Amino acid sequence: MKILQGKTALITGSTSGIGLSIAHAMAEAGANIVLNGFGDLEEIKKIQNDIHDKHKTKVIYSPADVSSGQQVQKMVEDAITAFKQIDIIVNNAGIQFVSPIVDFPEEKWNSILAINLSSAFKLIKTTLPGMLTQNWGRIINIASAHGLIASPYKSAYIAAKHGLVGLTKAVALEIAETNVTCNAICPGYVRTPLVEKQIAEQAKVHNISEDRVVKEILLKSQPSKKFIGSDHVAQLAVFLCSPAGSSMTGEIVSMDGGWTAQ
Ligand code: NAD
Repeated sequence: MKILQGKTALITGSTSGIGLSIAHAMAEAGANIVLNGFGDLEEIKKIQNDIHDKHKTKVIYSPADVSSGQQVQKMVEDAITAFKQIDIIVNNAGIQFVSPIVDFPEEKWNSILAINLSSAFKLIKTTLPGMLTQNWGRIINIASAHGLIASPYKSAYIAAKHGLVGLTKAVALEIAETNVTCNAICPGYVRTPLVEKQIAEQAKVHNISEDRVVKEILLKSQPSKKFIGSDHVAQLAVFLCSPAGSSMTGEIVSMDGGWTAQ
């Protein structure tokens, strides 16, 4: 019997990058999957079929924009209609925008806070009652090394990720005596579309090659000098749902190649 057999995992922002790896890893562990995120509908259909064919679990897709409370509510209702209950949520959807604070557009600040932080509040608030009733649940928030330390020009992202770390601890304490846990994972740099965009932008700004951006800017802060594998982050998320993970709650777990050890 696989460890997540019969469970349902809803992963926000799972059409790409880290979320997609988590969807595969949780399906491999036996969970039915609620995929969410943006993208080309044919590509998303292919992802759905691919997960189903490889791992033989059921996969539904919700196009919800997680910055909207109504759309989060609809996504949860659709998931419950399909699978009766939600056992695991992974608050993973996120965006980035890099700019000095004096030029930071207010609408970018608002959307980063809405997508990277407030969406987690909304999804936790909507799904926690069901988890408490069924007496088992796992809440996993994908924060960042930037939830623990800062870098310049990423004020909104860093504020949101520090907020997500705080939210994780507060929720964990509220439900500490139950069988529902709430933890955060703080990855260092993972080479996903979100980071590819930053590499291209930084190359333009500094007029240097993308290779130099990777070595001299991004991986400069990561002592391992290697990107973190999105599949490694995904395996950590599965671990938090395993029996051994049941003693972990309110934990802020880094996977950052030594970044925050400095
Ligand atoms: P990505 O761009 O590959 O994926 C982001 C996903 O979020 C996509 O599926 C996208 O469609 C979805 N999304 C964006 N806005 C949304 C919205 N309003 N509603 C629903 N879905 C939305 O990025 P990634 O690198 O895989 O990032 C995933 C998470 O990991 C983010 O929270 C990010 O901050 C965090 N993270 C990434 C890194 C990294 O180096 N890549 C490091 C630490 C933390």
